[in-house]
Amino acid sequence: AGGRVEVVCGPMFAGKTEELLRRVRRAEIAGRRVEVVGHALDTRRGAGTVSSHSGFATPSRTARDADDLERLVREAGPLDLVAVDEAQFFGPGLVDVVQRLADRGLVVVVAGLDVTFDARPFEPLPALMALAERVDKLTAVCAVCGEDAAFHVRLAAPTGAGDPGDPLAPVAAHVGGAETYEARCRTHLPDPPWRG
Ligand code: ADP
Ligand code: MG
Repeated sequence: AGGRVEVVCGPMFAGKTEELLRRVRRAEIAGRRVEVVGHALDTRRGAGTVSSHSGFATPSRTARDADDLERLVREAGPLDLVAVDEAQFFGPGLVDVVQRLADRGLVVVVAGLDVTFDARPFEPLPALMALAERVDKLTAVCAVCGEDAAFHVRLAAPTGAGDPGDPLAPVAAHVGGAETYEARCRTHLPDPPWRG
């Protein structure tokens, strides 16, 4: 009894992982049995760690897909709360798995991107939002103006001299990595699909 689904969503840098780990910490203080699950594709700190951009990190199990998550939770023994980070990597199968875990009495906290870097809905988060008991949609800080940012953009890797008129020119400030991302508010979102 007492199962439910809690979604924490928003763009990159919104604090989704920080909020997920805050809820995990509170559950642990309450003596609940908790498991944190990350995705194999999240390689920021290597497998076995869920970490935030600000440096908070916690040991985690790693799943490759939704079936893997369900198996892992079943084999973990009795649990009260399961926290799943980077939920967008788990694919559409995550929706039914999360519902089944909640039906069995688990609190399932799911954190992930609800929007792609080209400003489209990013399943399965939108479907999970519709079927959750609780949804918290967080915003980041716009890298251009500091307003609340509900979007993020992908900037190409620096390649030397760029067109100074290019809205992606700030890319020159970034070093390393094949690509980089910035949080953006609506005003500073270049070329969203609905503007034609
Ligand atoms: P998410 O999981 O949503 O990507 P994290 O929880 O990993 O976010 O990181 C949030 C932290 O990222 C903030 O507390 C802040 O320290 C840092 N940060 C870096 N850039 C930004 C930004 N543009 N807006 C908000 N926070 C940012
Ligand atoms: Mg995160």
